[in-house]
Amino acid sequence: MRLLEMTERLVKGPLFGCRMCGNCLLQETAFICPMECPKGLRNGPCGGSTSEKCYVDETRKCVWYEIFKRAKKMGREDKLLEILPPMDWDKAGTETWGEVVRQISKVGARKFTGSLFIKNKEKKSEVWESVFRPLRQPEWWNGDSEYHPPAYEGTVSELEKRLKNGEFVVTTEVTPPLSASTNKLKEDIEIVKPYVAAINFTDNSSASPRMSSMACCKVSGELNAEPVLQIAARDKTRCGLQAEIVGVNEMGVRNVLCISGDSARIGPSPMSNLSILDIDSIQMLWILRRMRDEGIYLDGRKMKFPPKLFLGAATSPFAAEPVLQAIREQKKINAGAQYFQTNLIFDPDGLEKWLEELDKKDILSKAYILVGISPLKSFKMAQYLHFDVPGITIPEKMMNRMEKAGDSALEEGITIALDLIDSIKRKKGVSGIHLMTFGREDITKKIIIEAGLETKKNALIPDDDKNV
Ligand code: SF4
Repeated sequence: MRLLEMTERLVKGPLFGCRMCGNCLLQETAFICPMECPKGLRNGPCGGSTSEKCYVDETRKCVWYEIFKRAKKMGREDKLLEILPPMDWDKAGTETWGEVVRQISKVGARKFTGSLFIKNKEKKSEVWESVFRPLRQPEWWNGDSEYHPPAYEGTVSELEKRLKNGEFVVTTEVTPPLSASTNKLKEDIEIVKPYVAAINFTDNSSASPRMSSMACCKVSGELNAEPVLQIAARDKTRCGLQAEIVGVNEMGVRNVLCISGDSARIGPSPMSNLSILDIDSIQMLWILRRMRDEGIYLDGRKMKFPPKLFLGAATSPFAAEPVLQAIREQKKINAGAQYFQTNLIFDPDGLEKWLEELDKKDILSKAYILVGISPLKSFKMAQYLHFDVPGITIPEKMMNRMEKAGDSALEEGITIALDLIDSIKRKKGVSGIHLMTFGREDITKKIIIEAGLETKKNALIPDDDKNV
């Protein structure tokens, strides 16, 4: 075994960038080892990735872009849709060739060798799948490339109910407090509650600790305001995720947003580990969907009362070219995403291209899209977002408007936000907006009223859904 391990290390290292994770996925990742990603992502790029450089380690390219490019060249893009499992850490650092040999002898060495010379692609892939699929998709995971519609009737949350009823919804974000006092948090919730369908509570955004999203959701529930729990993969283990979900469900929290989370690179020092060590956002969706629809924990234990969940994901439509980005969105929907809240959008035409790609994949009807809108505060803020934040593009015309606005920049930013809402609200596939004003809740209210999106309904949780 030691000899096999050394040989594998010597051959696969230089050829594929192999890190000997012991959970080989090379077949699905165009023969480039995804473990080269500083975050250790195994299901696609993070929201901060761009074609130029890795967002965590700027000295290198994003390994997932390299994987996408190679997969496209090899005609293996469909392979990127398979939901790949988290690591089985028991295998880390061990060889995988021994397992391949054992699986080949199960399938039949002659059959496998014969497949090397078969020209028929389908037959060849059938034999190869019989060898490699059980290795990369252990029974406890059983990932695939299929769409799994939610296995429940009706709706589980007020947000889902409104979206299902075709209402153009507004969600917003309230920043959790820095201290243990909830006075300001309660004030902020009360300001926006009458105007939005649900309130997101961020999970240590910018990798800086604050009051947990879970605690804020509890406060929100006590004020009868519908919360959205955000969970960043950065800070979660598989065990912690499942425990938290069962716990918050008991509190009445149904809406969950699974995100990768900002890298510790932009967080305070001393810097913590850069790697997303245990599970990525796509794996979180897969685990939570199976908890809800199949009533099982990842380890196979059954639950008598599975959690009720409306599962969401984040997306950054301009992070990659629309074709690549659409693969990422499709994968999240297949894993379990029922709605998306997007990164900040300032370019309605670019958004249209992204929506068209989703439509080509027939996925617009499978998830609700809430477009991220934020009023610009100043020309400086516009420059920062455009030049320093991956995935955000501000068109030149808009930049000029902000520059010319001078002392009236705040008002101009609100006018731009209103123009954006007006131009995106009739686009096919858009179900609402996710308004982010970063601590300016009075502006959230102003924009909603001026955009004519104020409805009689609000973020109140109906009595029959109350469980807090
Ligand atoms: S951390 Fe993000 S940008 Fe860097 S390689 Fe990984 S997916 Fe790409």
